[in-house]
Amino acid sequence: MTTHIKDVVIVGTGPAGLTAAIYAARAGLSPLVLAGLQHGGQLTITTEVENFPGFKEGILGPQLMMDMTQQAERFGAEIVHEEVTEVDFSADIKMMKTSSHTEIRAKTVIISTGATARTLGLKNEAKLMGHGLSTCATCDGFFYKGKKVMVVGGGDSAMEEASYLAKLCSEVILVHRRRHFRASKIMTERAQGIKNIQFFTPYEINALLHNDKELTGAQLKSTEENNKYLDITVDGLFYAIGHTPNSKIFLPYVEIDDNGYVKVTDFTKTSTQGIFAAGDIADPTFKQAITAAGMGCQAAIQAQHYLESLST
Ligand code: NAP
Repeated sequence: MTTHIKDVVIVGTGPAGLTAAIYAARAGLSPLVLAGLQHGGQLTITTEVENFPGFKEGILGPQLMMDMTQQAERFGAEIVHEEVTEVDFSADIKMMKTSSHTEIRAKTVIISTGATARTLGLKNEAKLMGHGLSTCATCDGFFYKGKKVMVVGGGDSAMEEASYLAKLCSEVILVHRRRHFRASKIMTERAQGIKNIQFFTPYEINALLHNDKELTGAQLKSTEENNKYLDITVDGLFYAIGHTPNSKIFLPYVEIDDNGYVKVTDFTKTSTQGIFAAGDIADPTFKQAITAAGMGCQAAIQAQHYLESLST
């Protein structure tokens, strides 16, 4: 890996990071991209992407990210599969340490580390993860072919995961703590129209049922009626309850909001000069691949302008 002071280091390789890499590379800034543990970000664990402009028949998420990666590399972006473990953004030259103990220095940094799947914090959750419990239907759905599964959540992810699982599994139970869904009308109606999806509202998951090896079901608790419990046997339980922004490593050098999203002003500028943020890490509202890509473009151009201001 390059060890001299880089003009631009991009942390994260979702649509935001890779778009920033394409723009920075085409501007001749030879960006270094630290891919982290999940190269390609959340789109690598999704199936069909139907709403990214330019693909009239849709495109598979992993394919889209592979294409973006190769596009960035074609213009000279250096992509390394390392995670940032420590940062010091207190001086003009920003310092980052990676999982291989390499020290990287840069004049500008674009943070595009996205967000991580949330869990419920129930007893035995960690032990059962991968043994009947999952946070990603597209990754693990295959293992539940022909079986009965449960999805928890009321957003677009829950609708998408339930609809996806309904194609593979015999039965899908969608559990949500309210009667109303925050998911978009189109995705909710699509899921409601699928015969083998059953909706259980308003219920929350009270406990995970299991044997010595794996999850065997879930105990549901009504959020409206006292002492109303239901024990349901399922082979798999998928959490689809949102994501937490991966901003912790950058504290205290960038300001975050109450939910952990990096605060940006004037498009992608963080509270520290030379540090920009793009994509889900800085977007509590839209969180779409296309908005992330747009922010990545903005961050790269703003980093370029900042570098130009240093040399005048
Ligand atoms: P989200 O919109 O934040 O929804 C999370 C859901 O999980 C909410 O229904 C929430 O319940 C529930 N939840 C959160 N914590 C919970 C807990 N402790 N116990 C029980 N339920 C809990 O997250 P998302 O569905 O992952 O979507 C994130 C963003 O990505 C959204 O903007 C969405 O539109 C977008 N998205 C788009 C697509 C698509 O267009 N293809 C697909 C997936 C996601 P409450 O509603 O009660 O708060």
